[in-house]
This record gives sequence, structure tokens and C-alpha cells, in this order.
Amino acid sequence: MIFIDSHCHIDGEAFDADRDEVVERARSVGVKAMLNIGTGNPHGDDFRKAVAVAESYENVFASVGVHPHDAKTYDDKAENHLIELVKSSKKIIAWGEIGLDFYYDHSPRDVQIEVFRRQIRTARELNLPIIIHSRDANDETVEILREECSDQNFRGGIMHCFGGSAEMAQDVLEIGFLISFAGNVTFKKADSLRDAARVVPFEKLLIETDCPFLTPVPFRGKRNEPSFVVHTAKFLAEFYGIELEKLANQTADNFVDFFELKID
Ligand SMILES: [Zn+2]
Ligand SMILES: [Zn+2]
Repeated sequence: MIFIDSHCHIDGEAFDADRDEVVERARSVGVKAMLNIGTGNPHGDDFRKAVAVAESYENVFASVGVHPHDAKTYDDKAENHLIELVKSSKKIIAWGEIGLDFYYDHSPRDVQIEVFRRQIRTARELNLPIIIHSRDANDETVEILREECSDQNFRGGIMHCFGGSAEMAQDVLEIGFLISFAGNVTFKKADSLRDAARVVPFEKLLIETDCPFLTPVPFRGKRNEPSFVVHTAKFLAEFYGIELEKLANQTADNFVDFFELKID
């Protein structure tokens, strides 16, 4: 049985002191691969570090893209930096996380929207799948994805840390997205998330930690890490009424197939 953490941030400072142990712990419970999502300032070293971390571990992959929080920092220079990184490393398999976050509003909404569209187009030029972050902006997100991605050449993408309704899940599935659930699906009050989980076909399902955030039950309150993806998998297996092994292997296969990877 293998697990894949489809979205983590192990390049972050939270892991500087014990990154090797964190990766080792993940491996020891069967987490075979991880996708490390680069975030931060595209005018500094943040993305270089994210890629370097992926380069230094087997089956740890990376994505680059400017988070909606940092949309106001996105310009030609930032874009060129990220494109250069993509060209420099085979470990970079996606563009993101990009999208809209109207909960925190760290960047003005009109800037978030403009930068979101621009990055989708850049990713598409590079033929990279996109990783979407959407919080309190679900209608706007779906509308933009419909406009930018509803053609046959769309490479596909992942709705990460899915937080929408069943209806939104259906909408994005139709456009060509996989849906990834994080630890918050295990939270007591997450009934609407579980309604969404019910409509996702198994072959479109992924699991993630989004660590160091969103620690699943029973470790809520602690720092999250990739080995904890097993708890989200256990929760979902029980929710769907299937064996853990089936849930784990199916979500791992979905990831490997989607990114056309070879993982041994
Ligand atoms: Zn996110
Ligand atoms: Zn994230």
C-alpha cells in the first residue's frame, strides 16, 4: 500500500530543523511521493529553495507559481524567474498554487484575478498542469476556470484543499480537474466538504496534507507533516466504506497517471 501527499510545503521554515527526519517518517509509513508546492516571494530565494528541496529527495516533486496572497508581487521579472526555474529542473511538474483568496485578501481582489488569469495562460504555454487555491471565492474561481480552461487542449489541474460545495466539485470535475482533500475533511464541522467528497469519482480523488497547516484529527493543533496524510486517507476510506489500501493505492495511481510519472 502506498500513499502520495499531493500538496505539501516541506521547504518551509517549519521544517528547516528536521526536514530529513520528516521525509524519512513519511517514507516509513508508506508515503512514496510528495509534491512540494513553492510559495513566497518571487523576487527572492523562496522558489529556488522549494525546487532545491525537491531535487534533494527521491520522489519529491515541486511546483512553482505565485500564491494569491502574493499576487501583488507578480510581474514580468517574477514570471521570468519562475519560467527559468521550470526549465532548470525536471522535478517541477506543475504551476501553482494559483487562484483566489478572498478570505485573507492579502492582495487586492482585482490584482488576484488578473494574476490568476495570467498564470493560467503561462502554465498552459508551458503545458504544465495547474494547482488551484480557492478560498471564499468559489464562484469567481469556477467562472475563471471555465473561461480559461474549457477547451480540449487543457492539460488539467488539481483543486487543492478542496473547500467548495458538491456543485462546485461537479463544475470543476467537468472542466478537467482532480480534487484533493486535506486534513480539514476530517474536522467535525466539515459536513459540506463531505457532501462534496460524495460526488467525486474515485479516479479523480487525491489526498494531501498542505503541511505545516491543517493537521488532521487526531493530531489537530500539532505541526502537520506528510506522514499524517495517512490519517486523512483512513478517514476517507471509512467515509466511503472501502479498504484503506484501496483508497491509498487509488489516490496514488491517480497522481502518478495524471503527472505521467514513473515511481519505483
Ligand atoms: Zn492553498
Ligand atoms: Zn498550499
